Amino acid sequence: MTATDTHCPYCALQCGMTLTPGIPRVKLEPREFPVNKGGLCAKGFTAADLLDHRDRLLTPLVRKEAGNRTSPLREATWDEALEAITTAITTAQQKHGRDSVGAFGGGGLTNEKAYALGKFVRVALRSSSIDYNGRFCMSSAATAANRSLGIDRGLPFPIEDLAQAKTILLVGANPADAMPPSMQYLDAGREHGARHVVVDPRRTNTAAGAHLHLQPLPGTDLALANGMLHIAIREGYVDEDFVRARTTGFDAVRASTNSYWPERVERMTGVPEKHLRETVRLLATQGPAMILTARGAEQHSNGTDTAQAYLNLALALGLVGRPSSGYGTITGQGNGQGGREHGQKADQLPGYRKLDDPAARRHVAAVWGVDPDDLPGPGRSAYEMLTDDSLRVLMVLASNIVVSAPNSNLVRSKLAALDFLVVSDIFRSETAELADVVLPTAQWAEEEGTMTNLEGRVIRRKRALDPPPDVKTDLETLAELARRLGREESSDPRTVFDELRRASAGGIADYAGITYERIEAEDGVFWPCPAEDHPGTPRLFADGFPTPDGRARFMRVEHRDPAETPDKTYPYVLTTGRNMQHYQSGTQTRRVKALNVALPEPRAEIHPDLARRHGIAEGDLVELRSRRGAAVLRARLSDGIRPDTVFAPFHWPGANALTNPALDPHSRMPEFKACAVAITRLQPQ
Ligand code: SF4
Repeated sequence: MTATDTHCPYCALQCGMTLTPGIPRVKLEPREFPVNKGGLCAKGFTAADLLDHRDRLLTPLVRKEAGNRTSPLREATWDEALEAITTAITTAQQKHGRDSVGAFGGGGLTNEKAYALGKFVRVALRSSSIDYNGRFCMSSAATAANRSLGIDRGLPFPIEDLAQAKTILLVGANPADAMPPSMQYLDAGREHGARHVVVDPRRTNTAAGAHLHLQPLPGTDLALANGMLHIAIREGYVDEDFVRARTTGFDAVRASTNSYWPERVERMTGVPEKHLRETVRLLATQGPAMILTARGAEQHSNGTDTAQAYLNLALALGLVGRPSSGYGTITGQGNGQGGREHGQKADQLPGYRKLDDPAARRHVAAVWGVDPDDLPGPGRSAYEMLTDDSLRVLMVLASNIVVSAPNSNLVRSKLAALDFLVVSDIFRSETAELADVVLPTAQWAEEEGTMTNLEGRVIRRKRALDPPPDVKTDLETLAELARRLGREESSDPRTVFDELRRASAGGIADYAGITYERIEAEDGVFWPCPAEDHPGTPRLFADGFPTPDGRARFMRVEHRDPAETPDKTYPYVLTTGRNMQHYQSGTQTRRVKALNVALPEPRAEIHPDLARRHGIAEGDLVELRSRRGAAVLRARLSDGIRPDTVFAPFHWPGANALTNPALDPHSRMPEFKACAVAITRLQPQ
C-alpha cells in the first residue's frame, strides 16, 4: 500500500494530507506542508469518506425517454452518453449558432481542467459562452486588484506572513470557520501582541477572538473604508513618501473622502466613531499591518469599488509591498486562484490574458494551432449567460448552480428550459437532477493535476488510487468530446500542463517555469515564474507594480446603497455565508456523516430582539421571503448579529432563492450579501 502526498479537495488553503489505500477504506492523515503545518479541519479529515460513498455516480446516466426530463435517469454506456451530447451540440449550433452551446466551470477544477475546458469551448465548440462559479466568488476582488495593482493574486505574500503583522484588518472574512488551520498564523501573531480588527455584521468565531469587532450594516463596507481613509488623512497617518514615489491618483481620492467624516460614517454604518479611529491608529502606528478582504465585502453590486476602497486605505498607509504588510484577499474555492487564470472565465485566455487583446489572441492561437480570427470574443458573465434564452445547450462541470447561483428559482427554470443539459459530477447534485445526461467524474484522490492556492502557490494534486472502472476524469471526457467534434486533444494531465505553461508564457499569470518536478521538490512554486531557473515569486510589489508606469493606482470610489434596501414589506437585510462544517453548495459535505450529524440543516441566525418582535423562539421554523422567493429554515437566536440583519448559510437549497442578482458593473458579481427580506414564524404542524 503506497502512501501518496496530496492536498485537501476543499478550500483554497489546500492543506497537505497523505492518503494510503487500504481495506476497507483509504487512510487519510494530515501532513506537514507550509500552509497547514500538519493541521486539518473537520472537512479535510473526513474527505476520504466520499471516495466510496453509496451515492457515488459510477456510470453515465441518460433519460429513459430521451428529451423528456420528467422521465427517470437510467444507466447508459459512455458511448451512448457522449453520442447524445455530440448530437445535441451539433444540432443546436446548426439551428441557433455557435454561442447557443456553452459551458459552466468551477473553481474546484484543477488548472489543467480549467485550461482544457476553456480551450474546448473556444476551439472545439468555437463558442464564446463560457463562465464559471468563480464569478460568484472572487471576481470583484480580482477586478479591483487588476485595475489598481496590475495583477490579481489573492495573497501577494505567503500566508505565514500573517503571523508577523502587528495589526490585521479582516473585512468580511471568517477564516476561523472557513479555513481553521489558517488561524494558527493569527493566533501566533496575537501571542506576540498583534491586534486584529474584524469587520462583519455577525460576531463570528473570528470576530469573537479579535481585539475589535466592527459590525456595520451589510452593504456599507465601502463607506467604512472611506471613513477610515478620511481619519488617516486628517490625523496625519498617510505615508506621503510612499504615495509620492509608488502611486498615482491620490489627490482625487483625498478630495473624495472629505464627505466621509466620522460622525456621518457612524450614522451610515452603525460603527462607533471611536472604533474607526482606533482601527486607523492601529493600522498606522503599530508596525507591519495588513488589510485583508473576503466575500463579505466583495459580494455586492458595488463589490469592486468596496475592495478598491480598502486597497486605497492600504496604499495611503504605505502598507503594500512592505515586509509583513500589505493588502490581500482571501480566496475561497480550492482552485479559486488558478481557476481564474487559465481561460474558463468569459473574458480570459490562459495566463490571465484578455480575450479582446489582439496580441494575446495571437499568442494563444499559435499554441493552439488555430487562426486568431477563429477564436470567439468575450462571452457573457455567469448569471447573464445562465438566464439568457439564447443559450440552448449547457455543460456544467464541478458546479451545483441550482444551489449556488443567485435568484436560484429563476436559474432553475432556465436550466429546465434548455434543449439539453449535461452535468459532470461525483454525485447526483440538485443540478444533476435536471440534466439530460449525467457523467460520473473522478474525485480528487483519483486524478493528477495542479492547483493554485490562496497564496499563488502552484501545488500538485496526485493520484492515490484509481477511479472506479466506469468513471472518467474530466480531461478524458473533454478530449473524447473534442475528438467526436473533429479535434484531437490530450487527456494526459502532464501534457496539458506543459501546453498551459506555453500558453501562459509572457502573460501576467506566467507558469512557464513551473514543472511537476519543481512543485514536488520545492513544496509548490509561486507564480509568476517565467523560466525554469526562476525562483518563483512568493512576495509581490517589493520593487514595483506590474502597471504600465510601475505605480499602483488609487481610484476614487463612492458609497452606493445595495440595489435593494429594506422597506415596509421586506424590513430586514439578509446576508448569506458559510458554516464551519460545510463547503460551498454542500454536494460533498452534506453527504459526510460526521459533518451532517454536526450540522444537519441550515439555521437562520436572528437577534433575540428581532425574534421577540415576531414571536420566534430558538429552534422554531421561520419563513424568509424576498421579492424572488422564499425559504424555510430553523431559527438560531444569537445576540452576535445585528438586530436588523438575518444570516442564512448557502450550503443548502434555499438561501439563494432569496438573493438578489443585481450585478456589480465592473466584475458582474451578484449581490449575494445584501437583500431585503421579511420573516414569519411558521406554526408547528
Ligand atoms: Fe481542507 Fe480548507 Fe479544511 Fe484545509 S482548511 S482541511 S484545505 S477545507
